[in-house]
Amino acid sequence: MEYDVIVIGGGLAGLQTTRLLAMRGLRVLCLEQNLIGEVIAVTGLFVQEAFEELPFPRHLFGSDIARFTIHAPGGNTLTVEHPHYRFSVADMPAVLEWMAGEARHAGAEIRERHRLLDLELTESGVELQVQYPGGEPFSLKAKFVLGADGPRSVVASSLGLPRYRKFLHGVEELRAAEVRSGDGIHWYFGRSLAPGYLAWMIPATGGYQVGVAGYERRGWSPARALEGLIEEVGDEFGLGELKFRRGGVIPGSGPRPVLVKQRVMLVGDAAGLVSPLTAGGIHYVLQHARRAAYLVCRFLETGDPKLFRRPLPPELRRRLVLKQLLRKSYETFSSDWMINLGMTIIPAMLRTRLVRRAFYGPGKHAIRTWTPIPDESGGNGGRGTKNHRNNRNNRKTSKE
Ligand SMILES: Cc1cc2nc3c(=O)[nH]c(=O)nc-3n(C[C@H](O)[C@H](O)[C@H](O)COP(=O)(O)OP(=O)(O)OC[C@H]3O[C@@H](n4cnc5c(N)ncnc54)[C@H](O)[C@@H]3O)c2cc1C
Repeated sequence: MEYDVIVIGGGLAGLQTTRLLAMRGLRVLCLEQNLIGEVIAVTGLFVQEAFEELPFPRHLFGSDIARFTIHAPGGNTLTVEHPHYRFSVADMPAVLEWMAGEARHAGAEIRERHRLLDLELTESGVELQVQYPGGEPFSLKAKFVLGADGPRSVVASSLGLPRYRKFLHGVEELRAAEVRSGDGIHWYFGRSLAPGYLAWMIPATGGYQVGVAGYERRGWSPARALEGLIEEVGDEFGLGELKFRRGGVIPGSGPRPVLVKQRVMLVGDAAGLVSPLTAGGIHYVLQHARRAAYLVCRFLETGDPKLFRRPLPPELRRRLVLKQLLRKSYETFSSDWMINLGMTIIPAMLRTRLVRRAFYGPGKHAIRTWTPIPDESGGNGGRGTKNHRNNRNNRKTSKE
């Protein structure tokens, strides 16, 4: 059987494109090498804009977070709050399972534990070599393939696209703690703690998510840096038992130069769509998924390759260029002493304004209210919850 579209990867980018394409009536298959939500790298900090892309249900998130505090290497701090802006921390496995449920509900097929080994462009589409544990490789055909297979994309390497080289390396732990009432996000800067990036402490359900990410450098390891941070702030935040540890790489130098080759397109982290400034990818990934689904649909209708001349939504492209410039200047000019100096000599009001502008952007924000999903009836009858349960029962672990 030939599919209209095969999506590789059941992360945020893959599940969102799968759902959107299935909603347009296409025959869509999503392949995920693990179980959905089984292996998680992401912290799950959602910016408010992400909810414009998909009305996630409330029960998948912890409490809203209103403020953040920047900790300069010298110990100075700056706390900023926006009256109409909230961050939310997701239960990521549950979010992904809910998204998979929504995609199936829209008519898509999802096969877990199916790994893409290789793919080849043919005259009329794409032929893929796929394997599930213990099985022989077999082939599948599609008119179009979306590579949503993360930062070390097999789709990109099968197409011979240049390797993505500049990654941030991140590691994070959930530590049990009594979360301080009204506490916000803490971001820690410092070259020796997190070269080129930052460390974080985020209030979550049952404790704090504590993490570090930075560019590879001789003598620096994210695991050791995290250990040092926990030692330093553990008592202050009452950090206790380790609940889980996770980590991964984040594309750290903006989008890949080539995102589309004939009938294959990269989306999400596979495309390098992470903010070069904050390394947050969730919002961009969801935004790009919408654009990708639209372009693929139009391409299958018209066969016009010119559609892919601008694979990124224009507003996203503009933002990425600006943030790349800011990132480059941060890398070139910033040092611990400059951050410390800035925190000392720039008047507090101006400092707050600058930081607010960098994080919240120039636009106005309206406080998010949780949108009920159409047939969410509350209690255990919510659609997300039901699908969530069905997914666990219907997992496909073999070739069909
Ligand atoms: C430690 C860390 C913390 C982060 N925290 C945040 C945050 O708090 N907020 C934020 O906005 N962004 C964060 N990011 C960035 C964010 O994770 C990503 O931008 C976003 O989750 C990427 O989604 P994705 O679907 O493109 O890729 P992924 O989430 O990597 O999903 C790719 C999927 O493809 C599957 N796959 C890979 N290869 C194959 C194959 N050959 N066959 C089949 N399946 C395959 C993988 O198993 C995976 O499920 C973080 C990243 C890291 C590493």
